[in-house]
Amino acid sequence: MCARQAPTGVVTRAVNMRAEPLLDVADQALRDALTGPCGAPQRRALAKTITLLESTRPDHRARADALLNALLPASGGSFRLGISGVPGVGKSTFIEALGLFLIERGHRVAVLAVDPSSSVNGGSILGDKTRMERLAMDPRAYIRPSPASGTLGGVAEKTREAMRVCEAAGHDVVIVETVGVGQSETAVAGMTDLFVLLQLPNAGDDLQAIKKGVMELADLVVINKADLDNAAATRARAQISSSLRILGQHGDPAHAMHDAAVWQPQVMQLSALKGSGLVEFWALISRFRTLQTANGRLAERRQRQDQAWMWALIDAGLKQRFKTHAAVREALPALARDVQRGRIAASVAARRLLDLFL
Ligand code: GDP
Repeated sequence: MCARQAPTGVVTRAVNMRAEPLLDVADQALRDALTGPCGAPQRRALAKTITLLESTRPDHRARADALLNALLPASGGSFRLGISGVPGVGKSTFIEALGLFLIERGHRVAVLAVDPSSSVNGGSILGDKTRMERLAMDPRAYIRPSPASGTLGGVAEKTREAMRVCEAAGHDVVIVETVGVGQSETAVAGMTDLFVLLQLPNAGDDLQAIKKGVMELADLVVINKADLDNAAATRARAQISSSLRILGQHGDPAHAMHDAAVWQPQVMQLSALKGSGLVEFWALISRFRTLQTANGRLAERRQRQDQAWMWALIDAGLKQRFKTHAAVREALPALARDVQRGRIAASVAARRLLDLFL
């Protein structure tokens, strides 16, 4: 029923296992269940592991770190698909249709979400199981709502880790969904192999995406609800294609995630509700994957993402430690005040504080 997909090994990485904490017996069992056959025990292990890594308890964090490292060699084998779009564009309808389409073709699909607002409104609106009931019920799929850990950085970190856990459990397509508000699109584009922007066939929808800088992140733009007004969808497609060309001309090629010689951001239209266009969508994804794997861009993109992520965590961690350092805490208020009153140059104050810390 849920055959394990062989990891495709698009990314190889060297892991320094020295000085890593060892797994205790319970966590060894958890790892074995996770990497074992697909079924109820694996699903339970998946949920348990992700709950562990979402926990804020330091002992849980230590166990989650050890588990993540133990699972790392078995992870990385999925195709990671980011999906964004404003509320109501049809994300959950699309993801459910795509998920069902993929599992019928032998894939195992995991759906994760990045929704930093979930900690504010007391629950995730994304990944909510009732939104994708048919997919959620299928043992070949796994749906996890957004972690509600506060900041976008925190939510994104947990989602990245959950992605690895899902991969180790044999999910070969991981979909990371996000709402079209805030900076969450940048976070999702920074953790996936291909970033899809879902758009409505309305005139002006593309302008919003351009204004917010989301259009530039897209490897593929999908105009949903083409069944409502096919002519409008076709017009939107032409309009977005030309916007993408202009953005491409002005964008910095060094930051492009794809090789412009082989992949230009594409625009297509479909109907998630009717399920039309899914074959063409998946054919495009597969072509992107093949091209980006052959020219090494996919591996490079992941390496860049991992490096950027590591440095982002180091930056955040250092700042946190700096602010809680005893000598810095003592000297900071007076120096900050002096900077404010113009008694000392900001650069001098910064250097003094750094000297206290280092
Ligand atoms: P989300 O907020 O982006 O997750 O959007 P939903 O998937 O919840 O969809 C919002 C509404 O649009 C629902 O009423 C869907 O039935 C509808 N919808 C989604 N996709 C399509 C489509 O392709 N065609 C039409 N006509 N309606 C759609």
